[in-house]
Amino acid sequence: MPTYVYQCPQCENRFERFQRITDDPAAICDVCGNAACGRVITGGTFHLKGGGWHQSDYAPVASPAKPEPAPPTPPCGGDVATCGSCEALDAN
Ligand SMILES: [Zn+2]
Repeated sequence: MPTYVYQCPQCENRFERFQRITDDPAAICDVCGNAACGRVITGGTFHLKGGGWHQSDYAPVASPAKPEPAPPTPPCGGDVATCGSCEALDAN
């Protein structure tokens, strides 16, 4: 059975009532007897405030540019474009 929190509009007294969902939501104030107390939506598990939940946390972070892979060094130590044997290896 859920617990509902009511607040008296007259004296602002807050109190709890164990009630079925189908029960009449009206409740009488313990302090002043006002019968027009309204349910307070407590939402105890919601904490919209507080750190760590800012929108910026979800913004895509620009990844640092990947360095271009170094061109393969031919076995002969020369230039692939001019070295005949290495060029053959590279084409393979
Ligand atoms: Zn009251």
